[in-house]
Parts: sequence; structure tokens; C-alpha cells
Amino acid sequence: MNPAQSYQQAVSGLIAAGQRIWQQGWCPATSSNFSRRLDADRCAITVSGRDKGSLQPDDIMQVDLSGQALDGKKPSAETLLHTQLYRRDPEIGAVLHTHSVKATLVSMVAPDTVELSGLELLKAFAGNTSHQVPMQIPVFDNTQDIAALAAEVESWMQQHGTGHAYLIRGHGLYTWGRDLPESLRHLEALEFLLDYYWHARLAVRPS
Ligand SMILES: [Zn+2]
Repeated sequence: MNPAQSYQQAVSGLIAAGQRIWQQGWCPATSSNFSRRLDADRCAITVSGRDKGSLQPDDIMQVDLSGQALDGKKPSAETLLHTQLYRRDPEIGAVLHTHSVKATLVSMVAPDTVELSGLELLKAFAGNTSHQVPMQIPVFDNTQDIAALAAEVESWMQQHGTGHAYLIRGHGLYTWGRDLPESLRHLEALEFLLDYYWHARLAVRPS
């Protein structure tokens, strides 16, 4: 498992990640949420409804891996989607959820799985050593019942493996990694690949 992070390290890492992601326009209007594992039983996560481009230390809180607040603050509505990942794989150290235009567009036109292969940037994902390794990104239907969605994600992963990312239709994407730098690398690679997917789809559309 990843070495435990101090809460202060996690807070400063999440604030910096928020600034970087907001500058790209991938977390508009207080949407999105970011988290960092603290140890085997807890993670730090953004408080519900805060502006992710100008996060302050008070905008981060601690929850246990059942999603319960440990400090009296109100966690993001989608906390259970973060804790599902931390519970399933002790190697996961950070989770990023964003609401970019391109992830949303692709989620609305893609079938149940986005398939990507033959692209050099697939090597940005941990463990991938070749552009020829295909990547599957499942697309789940959006719902306000986050507990049900977390169960659906877990069920899919039990069949297909954890992978590196998933989309929620009309909503956004989730990605993760061993730590925040790896998760940010995955996020930037996904935005490139989803942009490519979108343009490639338009390019082959019959006139
Ligand atoms: Zn969301």
C-alpha cells in the first residue's frame, strides 16, 4: 500500500490539484471532487460545493472508507464513488472526478464502453508499456443515487478489473492512481484521448 500521507500533505496536494484542474476548465461552477488516501481507513476529500479553483484548507475534510465524515464537515455528494475505489484496491492513493466538456460529450455518444487503442498516449497509464495495449473505459448511466452507482461500478470492476477510469453519462469522468501526480497524469491523458475520440468520431461521420 502507499505510504500514509499526513493530512497537511494531502490538503496542500488537493489544493494544488484543484488549481491546476480548474485552469483547464475541467471543474466548473464548484463541480467535481478530489481525494487523497491518508491511510488504510481514511481519506481526505473536498467539502461539498466549494470552488475547486480556489480551495482553502477548510475546504478539505476527512472521511472514513464508508464515506462517513470524521470532522463534522459535509463531504462531496459523490464521496461513495471515491471510497469504493479505496476499499477495492489498497494501491489506489488518489481519486480525481471532473466535469469537462469533452468527457461529457463523449459520454453522451459512446456505447457502454469507450475503446481506445493504437495511441501513444495510452502509455501515460501506469503499467502500460505499449501504445498497442487497448484500454476500455466503461460508461455508466448518471443517477442521483450514488450508493447504487457505487455498487454498479464495483460490480463492473469485479468482472473486468479496476482499470484506470470510467465515465458517467452526461456528467463527467473518474480516474485514479497511486498518488496525486499519477492521477493528474491519468487525467491529462484521458482528456487528450477523449478529445481525440471525439474528433475521430466526427471525422468518420458520413456527410
Ligand atoms: Zn460529479
